[in-house]
Amino acid sequence: MKLIDSHIHLDFEAFNIDREKLIAEADSAGIKRFVIPATTRESWLRIYQLSEQYPSLSVAYGIHPYFIQKHTLEDCEALDNWIRSHPCVAIGEIGLDYFLKEIDPQQQMNLFTTQLNIAKKHNLPVILHARKAIDEVTHQLKLAGITRGIVHSFNGSYVQAERLIEMGFKLGFGGALTYPRATRLQALVKQLPLESICLETDAPDQAASRFAGRRNEPLALIEVLETVASLRETPAEIIAQQTTENAYSVFNFC
Ligand SMILES: [Zn+2]
Repeated sequence: MKLIDSHIHLDFEAFNIDREKLIAEADSAGIKRFVIPATTRESWLRIYQLSEQYPSLSVAYGIHPYFIQKHTLEDCEALDNWIRSHPCVAIGEIGLDYFLKEIDPQQQMNLFTTQLNIAKKHNLPVILHARKAIDEVTHQLKLAGITRGIVHSFNGSYVQAERLIEMGFKLGFGGALTYPRATRLQALVKQLPLESICLETDAPDQAASRFAGRRNEPLALIEVLETVASLRETPAEIIAQQTTENAYSVFNFC
């Protein structure tokens, strides 16, 4: 079995004490590749260094909407330059978060659309964060002419999912799915074409039920896989194989 964690923040400080052990542990469980999306400009160098150190890490560079207040359009220019000398598999994590009221929506939009244009220019896929903003994100993807990427931690409706899939996007599902109360999300995962699903942990955030209340870890991906398999009444090996293929179809892994 060969699995890909399509969204994990392995660069976060929470993993400084045991990153190496966790990567080895995940590898033994079949998790062979990790996609690390950046969150701030400050994180790019660190992520680059980690990718040099661990060959199973693939990286994306970008500015996350949470941290938009610390950034300006000048940082987007820096992104455009950075990716010329630091190969990556995508632009991310970028997007819109209308749940957090204190983050200026106009500033979010400026940095999001500028980063979409950078992705387009470099022919790179995007890793998207869309909270209370799926329709707006979808609209901007259309305007920018982007046709490849993952909407991470997808939590929208079937109709919203269908629209994104038609445009060429995959949807990422993680720990949230593993809780019995997540009935709406589980119904969605049951219904979607398997070709549109990618697995992720978003560790150290969004703990799967086995890590509830604690730091989420790479091994949570196995619980996500097993949840998808049981919801769809399909062997885990088949889910693993198809979701790995899906991730390969999105990212420029080398
Ligand atoms: Zn994330």
